[in-house]
Amino acid sequence: MEEKKCILIVEDERAIVEILKFNLKREGYDTLEALDGETGLELARTKDPDLILLDVMLPKMNGFDICKNLREAGSTVPIIMLTAREEETDKVFGLEAGADDYMTKPFSMRELMARVRANIRRRSLDLNARASVGALLTAGALTIEPSTFSVTKSGEPVDLTQKEYDLLMHLIRERGKVFTREDLMQKVWNYDYFGDMRTVDVTVRRLREKIEDDPGKPQYILTKRGAGYYFAP
Ligand code: CA
Repeated sequence: MEEKKCILIVEDERAIVEILKFNLKREGYDTLEALDGETGLELARTKDPDLILLDVMLPKMNGFDICKNLREAGSTVPIIMLTAREEETDKVFGLEAGADDYMTKPFSMRELMARVRANIRRRSLDLNARASVGALLTAGALTIEPSTFSVTKSGEPVDLTQKEYDLLMHLIRERGKVFTREDLMQKVWNYDYFGDMRTVDVTVRRLREKIEDDPGKPQYILTKRGAGYYFAP
């Protein structure tokens, strides 16, 4: 039998923790809970969860800092930020801190569970694909080694989040092909019917900042105005 996936909930409102736990367990997941940021980071590091639901406003350490901390340490665990405010800046901050996705409270439990499933499924596919897809990919100064998930630029390692890596792989595998935001939302995030297209744009921007010499004049990930994004052929 397949081992149960474990979701870490980092959230200081007990009522939200309880309802998340209830719904996640019903979906067949194990859960771990932290009611403050420090405990959340500690559990994320020591328990190696399969996904993290991360509140922003937390005692001791906020969600953005936890996220940055994990990414800087090289963690690729899928992270969904739970933002309390409608403010656009919170969403962008979360993505820039390295989150894969965010949901604004109050969120639909059905939608959140769908996103959890999509992120977990995506990760399993990637982990399986690592073993089978061995060919080294190169483009300009970039080298991607799919068997180890590693990306280097002129020999220097580039740290990408799971979604940045997935996006890069998706684009580079079909160089020159233009993908719409909707295509990418579906293929990279696995969302069929929902998802904020802004997520795609912010992830592209973040990826460019990491791999391009001049993110303002990209040479790898290009924009086809009014259509979408593509990798330079
Ligand atoms: Ca909170």
